[in-house]
This record gives sequence, structure tokens and C-alpha cells, in this order.
Amino acid sequence: MDFKELPPVKEQVMKCVRCGKCRSVCPVFAEIRNETVAPRGHVFMVQMVRDGKVKPDQAVYDHLGNCLLCETCSVNCPSGIDIHELNAAARSYIYEKNPSPVKDLIFDTMWTKPALLKSAIRMMWGAQKTGAQKIARALGLTRMLPGDLPKAEQILTNIPSRSAKSRLAEVNPARGEKKYRVGYFLGCGTDLLNPNVALATVDVLTRNGCEVVIPRDMKCCGLPHIANGKMDTAQELAKENIRLFNSYDFDYIVTDCASCSSALGAKNLEFLLAGEGLDEEIEKFSEKVIDLTVFLVDVLDVRPPANDQALKIRVTYHDPCHLANAQNIKNQPRELLRRIPGIDLLEMKDANRCCGGSGTYALTHYDLSMQILDRKMDCIEATGADYIATCCPSCMMQLNHGVNRRHLGAKVVHPVELLSHSYANR
Ligand code: SF4
Ligand code: SF4
Repeated sequence: MDFKELPPVKEQVMKCVRCGKCRSVCPVFAEIRNETVAPRGHVFMVQMVRDGKVKPDQAVYDHLGNCLLCETCSVNCPSGIDIHELNAAARSYIYEKNPSPVKDLIFDTMWTKPALLKSAIRMMWGAQKTGAQKIARALGLTRMLPGDLPKAEQILTNIPSRSAKSRLAEVNPARGEKKYRVGYFLGCGTDLLNPNVALATVDVLTRNGCEVVIPRDMKCCGLPHIANGKMDTAQELAKENIRLFNSYDFDYIVTDCASCSSALGAKNLEFLLAGEGLDEEIEKFSEKVIDLTVFLVDVLDVRPPANDQALKIRVTYHDPCHLANAQNIKNQPRELLRRIPGIDLLEMKDANRCCGGSGTYALTHYDLSMQILDRKMDCIEATGADYIATCCPSCMMQLNHGVNRRHLGAKVVHPVELLSHSYANR
């Protein structure tokens, strides 16, 4: 659908009453107190672009690109404006007029073909393993990378040697009586950067009566593409994933990644595929999509057995924006943690505040992302927790970097890893 016809662009901009509520909650505005990075300023900017009063050039893209797409503004806007959708739609419209061959190579070629993405990650693993990354850093070669990547390459440390998909079967039978047939949407971040989360997910689901199928041909959920102005590619990826998962007879489509479940949910797919005539296919697909912690608590009602030998650990929980803001899921991850023997759950201040990771944001806006991370790490450090639990691979990567920067001893985990561990350690 044409940019100007998209519902948020056509109908919602007019609803802004300039109250400033969005500004008061925006984590980026808290760091750069300038209207050009404020959500209210973005709404105005998109209106000007739509009406042809401002040229859709790179400078406007860069202003809009400062936004994390964390959705904090959208959930707080009294006029109900989907500010993050406005922003994403405008980025895509502007990008079409100011394309970049490097971005096209990354998002159209590499990030649409899982085998290529896996090869790139393997090359990075090889560079870390052989010390080539350190040598390149010492020689200043990493400074030749584009944009903020010279600084951001420090975030990608400890890359695993093998992906989750290479360690898991396509069909994983239920242990004991089969209750559900579950399609596991194994996103790129979990597959390539956090394979232990995937192993724990399959372990816990099969223990609790689920046959877990991991369709080999699944594609990226498309959220990195939306954030980088590549909405056309995100649309193609969404269509392929919908077609693939709808060809199976799944009871549920489960994902452990907050970004994936929000990208695959009805709200985002209706925005992304507006006017494509796919309403029935979207409904059939998205009504089955469910976040892992919601599935474990609300559907399976998992109750890990009591264990007198369980280690006593202090855990704090960080709300990923794509879970708490985009899907209003805050209780189930905490409830799951409370049910695990030995865990003392400590609430951090501002648990629902963005960590600054936001997919590729830390890679493209390193310094700003670190300022936002520092506020989060202050809240985490004050709890004195041994573990930082969260449900998003991007947050996990960012928080790990925060732990390393501060030389803390805390470990960053997904709640399902602690759950799987509690079963194994009985
Ligand atoms: S909160 Fe909504 S109505 Fe208020 S200034 Fe922001 S966009 Fe406009
Ligand atoms: S989505 Fe988040 S970062 Fe972007 S304008 Fe809204 S509150 Fe600010």
C-alpha cells in the first residue's frame, strides 16, 4: 500500500493534540533533549513529509532513525497514535528514495537467506577463535567498517560455534503423552547467537507433552528490515513465513523471542501487509503465535517439581519492549521465574525501560545506545542479582555487553534456561 494511504499515516497524524506525553516517556528524548528526536516531533515530521512540505531526504531519515521503535510512546499516547508504525512507514518511504547498496546487500541478500547469515556468523566465530578479531582491532582495521560498526563489533563477543538448528532435529517428539503439536519459530538471534536458549526451549516443551517441529525453511521475522527502512523485504519474509507455517497443522506457533512474537502477531502483520488481501491467511497464522512464557504458564501450566537441593539464586527480570509494550506481556515471565525452585525474584527499578539494544540499534547508534544501557545497568546493579533474565536475544546481547563493560559477575539468561536447568538438576 502507498505510504500516504497507510492508516497510521493517512488517519492518525491528525489526532496528535501536542500534549507531550510521548516525549516524557521516550528513552531517546531523555538523552537528547531536542524535539527532532522526540516522538511528537516525529509525528510532525511525518506529516510534513506526507504533505510534501519537507523533502524525504537522508537528513529526515537520520532524525527518524534515532528512534528505537520501542513503542513506549505509542502505548502512552492518549490519542492512540501508533507512533512507531508512522516512523517505520516513513523510514521505508524515505529509504526507497535514498537507497544504500550496502544496506541492500545486508538486508535483501544476506538476511533473507538463512544459510548466508549463518556463514557470516561462522566467519565471525572463526575470527574470534583464531584471534583475528583482536589482531584486526589492534591494527585499526575494524575502524574501516561503515557507520558505528567499528565500536559496535565489541558487542558481538562469544559467538557460539554452532547454530541451534544444526544441533536440533526438525521433529522433536513429546516425552510421555502428546498434548500439542507445536511449531517452533526459531528466530535468527536465538538460532545463531543464543543456541542454548533453543535447546532449553525444546527440552522444556518436549518434557511437558509437546511435539516440537522446527520448519527448516523459516525466514527472519522481518523486524530488522522494518527498523532499517526495508519494509518491502519484510513483507516478502512475512508472506513466506505465513505460507510455510500455515502448511503445517500446528496447535500453536511458539517463539522464545519477544521481537519475533511481536513481528508475527496480528497487529504488526495487519500493518505490514495492509491491502495485500491476505486477511484470512494472517488470521490463521497469527492466532496461533504465542510467546514461550505465556505458553508455559497459561497453556501448559508448568510446575517444576520441588527440589531441596536447588541452588538459591537471586534473579532480576528486564522487560523487553517488544514483549511489555508491543504485547503487554509482563506477568508470565515473572510468574515462570517464581515457579522455579530456589529463585528469589528481585524487581529492578524501571524494569520496563528500554535497554538500548533494540535489534540492530546498538550496531547503528552505538554511543546513544550505551547511554541508554548505562541507565538500565544502574538499575540492574542496584538489585545485586546473580542472574539477569529477559526474553529477547537482542536484549540479552545488549545486557551482556553492559555486564562486560562494568565487569560484573551476573549472568544473562532467558527464563527458559533456568527452568530447563531446574528439571535437569533434580
Ligand atoms: S502523546 Fe500522542 S497526542 Fe500527545 S504529543 Fe505525543 S503523539 Fe501527540
Ligand atoms: S518508539 Fe521509543 S524511542 Fe521511538 S520515539 Fe517512541 S518512545 Fe522514543
